[in-house]
Amino acid sequence: MRCKFCKSRDVEVFLRQYGLALCRIDFLRFFEKRIRYAIDKFKMFDESDSVVVAVSGGKDSLAALYALSSMGYNVEGYFLDLGIEGSSDVARDKIIAFSKKFSIPVNIETLEEKLGYSLPEVGRVMRRPSCSFCGILKRYYMNNWARGKVLVTGHTMYDEATTLLANNLQWKLSYLARQYPVLPAEDGFAKKTKPLVFVTERETAMYCFFNEIEYVESSCPLSKGATSRKWKRHLLSMEHSTPGLIIRYLKGFYSAKKHISLPSVEEECVENCERCGYPTTAAGLCAVCRIKDRLTNLSK
Ligand code: AMP
Ligand code: ZN
Repeated sequence: MRCKFCKSRDVEVFLRQYGLALCRIDFLRFFEKRIRYAIDKFKMFDESDSVVVAVSGGKDSLAALYALSSMGYNVEGYFLDLGIEGSSDVARDKIIAFSKKFSIPVNIETLEEKLGYSLPEVGRVMRRPSCSFCGILKRYYMNNWARGKVLVTGHTMYDEATTLLANNLQWKLSYLARQYPVLPAEDGFAKKTKPLVFVTERETAMYCFFNEIEYVESSCPLSKGATSRKWKRHLLSMEHSTPGLIIRYLKGFYSAKKHISLPSVEEECVENCERCGYPTTAAGLCAVCRIKDRLTNLSK
C-alpha cells in the first residue's frame, strides 16, 4: 500500500471512512486540513481572534490546542480543576507538563477557589450525584474565562453524532435547533466552537502519539454509567459495519438544518443573571448563582 498523497511506502495510518492510506507526515497534514475545513466552513474564527481552548487533559482537547497553535492561531488553554481526587490532579499535571513542553500558555482555575467547594463536595452538600452539576459548572467558568474571545471545546465527530442521535431518538427539537459546531457570542460572552467536528477520537489519539503529546487516558471516574456512552457504543458498532456512516449522518444533519423548520431558539427569552450577568433563560438568577445560594443555605 502506498500513501495516497506522496506515494511513499511508509504508510502508518489507514482511515477506513475515507478508504485513505497515509504516511505520518501526510496524516498530520490531513488532520490539520480537516480542522481548517471546519473552521472555514462554519466561520469559527481567524488569525486575528483570541481563542481559548478548554482542555480536560484528554487527547481531544490537547490535540485541538496543539493543532490550533501550530496552525498559527492565537490560542491559550483553560483548565478548570474540579478537585476530583485521582483524576483532576492527574489531568492538571499532564496539562502543566504539556504547557511547558510546547510553550503554549494554559490558565488554570480551581472550583474550590471559585465556588468554595470541589465537585465531589458540591454533590455531597446538595445530596445529588456530582455529575448533575459538572456540565453546568464547567460551562459557566469556561465561558466566563473566554468572555469576549472565541471558546473552543474538544468535541469530536463521534461526540457530536452521539448528541445528535440522542436528540433525534427523543425528538428534542429545541436541542436539535441549537446543535451546531458554532454558536454566536451573546451579551459579551464567548462565541462557542467545535473545530474537531470532522475528526475522530482515533485520529486525535494518533495525532497526539505522532507529536509526542502526553494525555490522560482514563475518562472521568464519576461518569461511568452515563447514557451517552451507551449511545456512542451503538453508533460505533454501526460505523464498524458501515464505514463512513457517522460523518454522512452528521454532515447530512448540518446541511438538512437549512431546510428543516425547528422551533427557533430566539423564541426563548435570554436575560442576564441579576447577580453575575451570565446569560440565562430563568428569570432572576442563573443556575450557578442558584447553586451557590443553595450551597450557602445547606451548609449553614
Ligand atoms: P466533556 O464534557 O468531559 O465531554 O468535555 C467536553 C469538552 O469540554 C472537552 O473536550 C474540553 O474541551 C472541555 N473540558 C472538559 N473538562 C474540562 C475541564 N475540567 N476544564 C476545562 N475544559 C474542560
Ligand atoms: Zn449568575
